[in-house]
Amino acid sequence: MTDAHTANPSATARAAALRTRLEALSDTSASGPKATGPAQLVRAPGRVNLIGEHTDYNEGLVLPAAIDREIWIAFQPWKRPEVELTSIEMNETKSFAFEGLAPGARADRSWIDYVAGTAWAMREAGLPLRGFRGVMNSTVPVGSGLSSSAALEMASSWALAVPGAPRPDAGAMAAIAQRAENRYVGVNCGIMDQFASAAGRAGHALLIDCRINQFKATPMPADLSMVVCNTGSPHRLDATAYNTRRSECELGVKLIAEREPGVTALRDVDEAMLERNRDRLPEIVARRCEHIVQEDGRVMATVAALRDGDREALGRLFAASHASLRDLYEVSSPELDAMVEIAVAVPGVVASRMTGAGFGGCTVNLVEQGAEEALRDAVLAQYQKRTGLEPHVYIVTAVDGAGEVNQGA
Ligand code: ADP
Ligand code: MG
Repeated sequence: MTDAHTANPSATARAAALRTRLEALSDTSASGPKATGPAQLVRAPGRVNLIGEHTDYNEGLVLPAAIDREIWIAFQPWKRPEVELTSIEMNETKSFAFEGLAPGARADRSWIDYVAGTAWAMREAGLPLRGFRGVMNSTVPVGSGLSSSAALEMASSWALAVPGAPRPDAGAMAAIAQRAENRYVGVNCGIMDQFASAAGRAGHALLIDCRINQFKATPMPADLSMVVCNTGSPHRLDATAYNTRRSECELGVKLIAEREPGVTALRDVDEAMLERNRDRLPEIVARRCEHIVQEDGRVMATVAALRDGDREALGRLFAASHASLRDLYEVSSPELDAMVEIAVAVPGVVASRMTGAGFGGCTVNLVEQGAEEALRDAVLAQYQKRTGLEPHVYIVTAVDGAGEVNQGA
């Protein structure tokens, strides 16, 4: 794999590199199936979650932003009901046919399953598909909690869509991509990642209500920057630990609902209700529920603090979320804790916390404009000494969600 940690190439450089690769493919396969149109370009961003962690699968609130770390696909549609795609990062070409796509019949246990799964889920939703030959490149680090998987699904959904056919709105498209990841790839994720990649808006975070799949764009303060620090930590939250957290939440709901009619998700539980039912819950389940119930409140408070530019509140809310994920939900790690400790000691760092599912991956930081490099310097000077791991620091901006790249790029 090439390194996605290096600087972001310009849109023009990126488009040119992809087109060259695509043309080279077309030359070597002159006898292959005929392309039916000019090369096209689609893109889909990764995302960083500002706050609202592990709340999506509890029908709660999340506040991610789509970021300028993106997957791009250059492709030529063809008449065959097939996809052939090259990943430059993986240095691999993979293909699949639309016929016979089914979760149980996965052709390949590899990255192409995210694309094939998206095709399967789109067809299940009644959407027509087009075949293509394509080349993709990415600046979303893989497996670091910035949702390269959702970016791959959303970029694929744009390449696979038949132009002119009705396109579901971003929330519905996100649900289709989530189904691809849940059912076809077999990763039991919530809807946040796909939603953020689909619906992102430049300069904004998205307040997503995961109960009704609706969102509201929230402006990011112009004088605060988002900085993502990658712990480079190899142990990410694995599927077993993630699924255990999910079932602990489900058990909490079941036990609370026995006494509280109408409760179908932790979204329905407030702190008072949790307290009066605490004696019914195993201690560990009570702690998991406490995190979720309080985290939803922190999301709404963060939206208000962003609107008011209230630094003190932002710092307090991020710190409380991190502590809760560390102590109650138990999904932080020594590396994530060290990264946050280093960041909050840097003048100009307003707020810092772990982001994503946990155990490894990244922290998200809100930083006064102009203090970004001070944070980077502190991380580079201290983190590796403390943990033995090499960190990466990305200064990111909030961008629009997935779509076609205008051909002037
Ligand atoms: P995250 O979404 O946090 O980056 P995941 O484990 O959910 O991590 O998804 C990572 C997977 O997505 C990779 O293992 C690979 O299958 C696929 N993927 C991501 N980026 C690329 C890429 N540039 N080329 C091919 N596959 C990719
Ligand atoms: Mg993912």
